[in-house]
Amino acid sequence: MIGIFKKKPETLPLRHYGDPVLRKKARPIAAVTPELRKLAEQMIATMYASRGVGLAAPQIGKSIRLIVLDTMPGKDDLPPDATPGEILLAPFMPLVLVNPEVAEASKETEVASEGCLSVPKIFGDVERPAYVLLRATLLDGEKVEVECGGLLGRCIQHEIDHLDGVLFPDRLAKVELEMVTEEIEKLEARTQAALKKAK
Ligand SMILES: [Zn+2]
Repeated sequence: MIGIFKKKPETLPLRHYGDPVLRKKARPIAAVTPELRKLAEQMIATMYASRGVGLAAPQIGKSIRLIVLDTMPGKDDLPPDATPGEILLAPFMPLVLVNPEVAEASKETEVASEGCLSVPKIFGDVERPAYVLLRATLLDGEKVEVECGGLLGRCIQHEIDHLDGVLFPDRLAKVELEMVTEEIEKLEARTQAALKKAK
């Protein structure tokens, strides 16, 4: 029997540190259209292909407020101290968030190592609020407002930063930043050389 192959969504080229699109403030999305759904599918495919846990639209060159993430490879093993957001959003993974915003952030902070598909092979410890109140629209139009912590809370903050033109090295402490400055400058030069060539 010949199977019917559902065409896999194509992956999109990633933009890297030094690309000006990563520094722009992304514009809000007015409506969820079939094109937007298709883009979200392609972003999810791109995120999985690159083994990332999150991806924001500017990272594939679209300056719009759209992020995708999947912070739960094992959907059944939520931590015992899971926040309401981790519990509520687990069934939606991979999750697509339209116009996500941090409505409130905890005073309590946490430090953890971060990396980024736009800053490959570079990692650093970033201090962020331990909990945030996420406000966003899901692809089906449902609005959510929920407290998120853990990896989900961190990933949401990292991806929303992308929508505001902020990259994780901007948030590194001075010593941490100094350790990766040379690598970042090399990456930036490579990106800009590639962009010039493509013109
Ligand atoms: Zn990133």
